[in-house]
Amino acid sequence: MAKIAIVTGGTRGIGLAISKRLASDGYQVVAVGRKSLSDVLPVLKEISKEPVGTRYIQADVSSSDDRKRIVSETVEAFGRIDLLVNNAGVAPKNRADILQMEEESWDYVIDTNTKSNMFLTQEVAKVMIGQPVLYRKRGTIINISSCSAEVSSTNRAEYCVSKAGISMLTTLYADALSKYGIYVHEVRPGVIKTDMTSTVVGKYDSLIESGVFPIARWGYGEDVANAVAIFASDELLYTTGNHIDVDGGFHIRRL
Ligand code: NDP
Repeated sequence: MAKIAIVTGGTRGIGLAISKRLASDGYQVVAVGRKSLSDVLPVLKEISKEPVGTRYIQADVSSSDDRKRIVSETVEAFGRIDLLVNNAGVAPKNRADILQMEEESWDYVIDTNTKSNMFLTQEVAKVMIGQPVLYRKRGTIINISSCSAEVSSTNRAEYCVSKAGISMLTTLYADALSKYGIYVHEVRPGVIKTDMTSTVVGKYDSLIESGVFPIARWGYGEDVANAVAIFASDELLYTTGNHIDVDGGFHIRRL
């Protein structure tokens, strides 16, 4: 029986790499994004060799109604949810110093990145709690946060706070859901080549060249997807609330 995985932001960037990896590992992928179905059809065919095996739900994760619909449509179609990957996220539309940041930008980033994580996880957890164990788990939830959960960038404070919030949600849900056989983990990417970083390529090229990252290259979506696959596997059954840094060793403090 195929496991069912919801991947938010699953048709682009890091989320697309995750969707492809999970599909190749045998999951029935339900990819979520804001674009219309016709816009993402070619991508859905890339995700799975059998496009009928990949579902798409057009939804905005910052909308409460849409979050409920993501869960109800998935359960209606497949009867259960084995894996939720909370990947959808946004950077501030404009980078502004913390002393100039506007409330609108704060609300946009926190709503999309953190509030959606809190309440989509809540909806999915309620389904997982009520479903029978499949293989050895009742479910797995994996949050894509960022090195920004710990690293200060004073020109995008709302993003850093949004990701630090996701780290605490990982801890809270890991604690609350462990008794049900539901595992919660976090993957913290560093600098990954996607649309999100396309406006700062020059800056990161220079940082890589200067030796800031011990593994001196850009990260790719596949690097993040590999970490997701490890947490999603049935191998880590005495481990919850953990994170993997996928950042080329950027988290290592040096003297
Ligand atoms: P992209 O900008 O390339 O893609 C963002 C994805 O999120 C798209 O698939 C988009 O789908 C989806 N998305 C955004 N807002 C919403 C929304 N309101 N509702 C539904 N889907 C939404 O970003 P990345 O692939 O680079 O980033 C993916 C995740 O990884 C994010 O959480 C990001 O913060 C995190 N990350 C990225 C890093 C990087 O260097 N790239 C580093 C650290 C963390 P669509 O446009 O179709 O709606």
